[in-house]
Amino acid sequence: MILQEKADEVLPLGIYFHVPFCSSICDFCSFYQKVPRRDEIKRYLNGMKLELKSRSLNRFVDTVFWGGGTPGLLTVQDLELLGRLMLEKLTRQPVEWTVELSPSTVKKEKMKVLRDLGVTRISMGVESFSDRLLKNLGRQHSQRQIFQAIDVINNSGFENINLDLIFSIPGQSIDDWLSDLKQAIHISPQHISTYCLTYEEDTALFIRLSHGEIFRKLKKEDAFIYEITRKTLEDANYKQYEISNYAVNGYECLHNKNTWHLYDWLGFGPSAATQFNGRRFANVASLEQWVEGLEKGHPIITDDIQLDTEILAADCLIFGLRMNKGVQLKRLQRRFPEFNFSRLQPLWKQLSNDKYLEMTDDKNLCLTARGRLVADSIGVEILEIFDA
Ligand code: SF4
Repeated sequence: MILQEKADEVLPLGIYFHVPFCSSICDFCSFYQKVPRRDEIKRYLNGMKLELKSRSLNRFVDTVFWGGGTPGLLTVQDLELLGRLMLEKLTRQPVEWTVELSPSTVKKEKMKVLRDLGVTRISMGVESFSDRLLKNLGRQHSQRQIFQAIDVINNSGFENINLDLIFSIPGQSIDDWLSDLKQAIHISPQHISTYCLTYEEDTALFIRLSHGEIFRKLKKEDAFIYEITRKTLEDANYKQYEISNYAVNGYECLHNKNTWHLYDWLGFGPSAATQFNGRRFANVASLEQWVEGLEKGHPIITDDIQLDTEILAADCLIFGLRMNKGVQLKRLQRRFPEFNFSRLQPLWKQLSNDKYLEMTDDKNLCLTARGRLVADSIGVEILEIFDA
């Protein structure tokens, strides 16, 4: 079935910049990144200039997200250059522009240039406030640097800040996690993301796990942590709006929400993924191949797939159900008029009987708190129906 989206509104568009540089590689990280030489940063900036030039942008861009890697590793001049290159391409300032920073890269001059460019939101990878646990993750920053960075960000006038935290770190007790949550709450950012540590292949952590040097926490322990996290954050006025994300009123991350709704986004930089006009692909995960391809006019993309209604509708359901508001089936039906959603009725019925799913008063299909604990398995069940 060829993709045919019908919406009663213009769907939002996002831009993602992947800045693939880190000062050292964390033990759990599987993103494409490298410790850069100066000439590689120059090559990257030239590549971004070429890639921006090569894409036509005839729609408004609503949100921008610079991630990585560590965008904060770029110098003040490089941040400004990259920002100007992007803004030249846009017809208006984005509604939301997030830049990810690690605590050790937060400097007054960098924050000023980001503010001047129009960045609206800072997302900081705190991970933990415990120096011992940061060491277990192979993170280079310290608790002292986190607090220093927060002071600099606050003094620079940013009023929309996210802190990323990780739970189920080897050696982390429940009290350690509660202490991390409390310290984050004490800082009072507008948004807190909490992620369960994952052991991705080819990471230092995965190797330590395979050698029996560390142990994975039990699933039921993760579920308990998930519940106390929700309670602790909600008691402090952070409302959960997605399985891993909490915000005070009015500060949900628009860019991520648009992505979870499967609206289009354009990815720039090595390994960045794009979904645009019925296609999904990723740039090659190699700085060298990506720049060389752009310079010589060779293809730089991989995993290029034509999206059909089945793929997009399944993803909308899976990601939509991860959000607390759930999915509005009527709206999805309008967006994908030729898709037969009644195929899913038996699954909805079974999930409701098991108290994993409920229909809200405003006719949204939502996972219950119990259902969110098994959201991944529910996603697999949805895919099985689409694949049948
Ligand atoms: S700073 Fe972030 S992107 Fe870089 S290695 Fe660590 S986790 Fe990965």
